[in-house]
This record gives sequence, structure tokens and C-alpha cells, in this order.
Amino acid sequence: MEKLEHIGIAVKNLQDSNLLFAKLLGKPHYKIEEVESEGVRTSFFEIGGIKIELLEATRPDSPIAKFIEKKGEGLHHLAFGVTQIENEMSEKAAAGFTPLADTPKDGADNKHIVFLHPKTTNGVLIELCADKII
Ligand code: ZN
Repeated sequence: MEKLEHIGIAVKNLQDSNLLFAKLLGKPHYKIEEVESEGVRTSFFEIGGIKIELLEATRPDSPIAKFIEKKGEGLHHLAFGVTQIENEMSEKAAAGFTPLADTPKDGADNKHIVFLHPKTTNGVLIELCADKII
């Protein structure tokens, strides 16, 4: 793990939450991106070198829709930046954490990502993310 890369927050309405977070942080989001495969539309804010990712479901079976149904809006995940995501994944698996996929997937913001199950991390969903090498 290298750094806290971003904080993911599940929201019901991205447009409303973009306005709310712009008011809170004193600056607007700098991009919106949809990740079709995950059924999610995201927007990004940046504050003090840390990003805040707002996540809105684009379909009812999206993981974000299910999360909001169960827990309501709010903190969804912490994302840590790593360089070697496959290595990091196997190290974490060997250390007793539970990756939610066998291989990293495409995430927003040009990243490869994998999540660690919250049951192994004190209830907090953890994302590992690495820049995609193009
Ligand atoms: Zn994320």
C-alpha cells in the first residue's frame, strides 16, 4: 500500500450530491465517468491530494444500488493506491483478507481495481487500485 488514493461515497442522486459536495468543499467536481461494467456513474473531487469519488447506481442490480438499499447513502469504501496490484492482492489474500475477485477489474479514473471483503477489514470495504499502464 502506498497511500490513501480516494474515499468512495454512495449517493442516490449524483447531480444533487455534486452540488452538495461542491458547497462543502468549496470547489466543483473535476470529472464524471461511467463504469458500465459496474453499473455505476462516478464523479471526482480533489482535496489536499486525496480524491473523493461519489458513486451513483445506473441500474437496479448495480452493487451501489444494493448497498444503498441495505445501508443507505454514505461511506462506501476506502481506496489505497498500490503499484503491483496482482502481487498486493496475493499478499493480502495470504494474510487472511478476502479479495472479491480473482483478477483486478477496470475501475473509474483509469485504474485497475480489486476490493477486499469488509468482513475481513472491520466492516470497511477496501479497494486496492493501480494506474493502468497504457
Ligand atoms: Zn473507488
